[in-house]
Amino acid sequence: MPNYDVHVLSGIVSYPAVVVLAGLLSPTLHFGLTPTALILGYALYVLGSDLPDMDHPNALIHRGTKPIVSVSVGGAVYLWVIRYLHLGAEWLNQGAAWAVGAVGAFIAWFGFTAVMPRHRGVVHSLFFAAIYGFLAFLLAGYGLGMRFGEALYSGFAAFSGYTLHLTLDGSLKLV
Ligand SMILES: [Zn+2]
Repeated sequence: MPNYDVHVLSGIVSYPAVVVLAGLLSPTLHFGLTPTALILGYALYVLGSDLPDMDHPNALIHRGTKPIVSVSVGGAVYLWVIRYLHLGAEWLNQGAAWAVGAVGAFIAWFGFTAVMPRHRGVVHSLFFAAIYGFLAFLLAGYGLGMRFGEALYSGFAAFSGYTLHLTLDGSLKLV
């Protein structure tokens, strides 16, 4: 099985093929191949080329994602708790809310690894490639306010990067 460097570098060098394929499909699918969409697509493609290994606890992408998930959960717990805390002084409310938030982040740190499906299970499937592509489409279209064709291309690039990883792993399965 290819390692981190091989996966990411394969994404980095094979992107021109995705751009050409998108250009050929464009008359049918109406991709918006603007410079912004192409650069965002590159980032999503390269990220996708390693993302499936998130299901391995020792993989760099798994360990790199953990603090992000942990901090996001901690922040969300803080926001939820701060509304109900009225301990008196503002510093006391903030300190207590962050204490609860930190507990949430701590649990999320271990929870992320615990709930992750086994290595090369469902995360290494075209089903997850499609989910990743759809999330990329939503991020581009609704999060970043890009035009429909540009968002569609972003989703296509993300899906392609994820699929590249599955292909190199020899793990091209539907679910
Ligand atoms: Zn893999």
